[in-house]
Amino acid sequence: MQIGIPRALSYYNFFPFWYGFFSDLGIEIVLSDPTTKQTMTTGSSLVVPETCLPVKVYVGHILNLLDKKVDKIFVPSLQSILPKIYNCSKLRGLPDLIRNVVKRDFTMIEATLDKSEKNHGLYDFLMEIAKYFDITDFERVKKASKNAWRVYNNFQVMTRSGVPYKKALKSAIENKVIISENDKMYPISVALVAHGYNLYDERVSMKIFDKLEALGVRVHTADQLTLEQMKEGLNSMHSRLYWANEYEMTGAASHYIQDKNIDGIITINAFGCGPDSLMLERISRFSRKSGKPILNLSIDEHTGEAGFVTRIEAFIDMLYRKKRSSILNKIKIKNVKENYSSINCKDLISDSSY
Ligand code: SF4
Repeated sequence: MQIGIPRALSYYNFFPFWYGFFSDLGIEIVLSDPTTKQTMTTGSSLVVPETCLPVKVYVGHILNLLDKKVDKIFVPSLQSILPKIYNCSKLRGLPDLIRNVVKRDFTMIEATLDKSEKNHGLYDFLMEIAKYFDITDFERVKKASKNAWRVYNNFQVMTRSGVPYKKALKSAIENKVIISENDKMYPISVALVAHGYNLYDERVSMKIFDKLEALGVRVHTADQLTLEQMKEGLNSMHSRLYWANEYEMTGAASHYIQDKNIDGIITINAFGCGPDSLMLERISRFSRKSGKPILNLSIDEHTGEAGFVTRIEAFIDMLYRKKRSSILNKIKIKNVKENYSSINCKDLISDSSY
């Protein structure tokens, strides 16, 4: 038994869960190859240009799996993951979109998860998937689900402690739990706010983590926060939860905007993404109101790396200068206070450096 999983979209949020689930059922997972320029080009050629980059990339990964001769491919329809909290229309209608653009012969495992639907829970969704492999024993599926949660929870414990995404994923599927040992000091800290598929797909994000590390920047993401912290973030912005990704976007951004140890916020969003355009508007306003610098990077398949890097470098340079001048101001104020008794007001006014 074999299942193909595209290395795109929900892969970046839930792969540890799928790994635990399918491996417990004895189903071999075939992953598509990491995203390349060709993945983007082939995917983009089949959909209308207005489609967001992550969906174009997803189509490219389906084609890659078909080239690998995988005949059962997992394309879930993730409608709603909490009651009345919805995914965007592209994620909800993903099986229909794929059926209409990929005209090749394969079995699409298109189970639907809809927590807003009455009497429809995770087990119904998992049973629907298992049926494609003639597995109808509820107890077997329940056991596989337990294993899936174990792997997924281990993954989350690691990312929350600061273990980088790739390392945490590798350790989780090897059934190991490691903790972060990065006690390096960084002069600048930023929060990267984006959907998992825009952050951890190295081709899409153009290895932004490596670029920021090279600039001496510590990076924080939503994965390092608890659900409670993101909920509080959302509440403090007086924002209502509507989109499924609202926690990892608005909740995380709001938390980091209020965190005094974070020097700036960088967001990455796909050009043409409806939910992001709404969420980012609120995030940007809140950031400006709080005096926290923010850089919004919009990406599509034509985004050039040179321009991307220049904007990041300029932003980080500005954060360095801002921090340096705020430290200098503090030193000057301290000196003024210490020497106040020996300085008369006339000297202070005439000394322009104060
Ligand atoms: S949330 Fe935005 S980027 Fe993600 S699939 Fe939907 S439209 Fe595309």
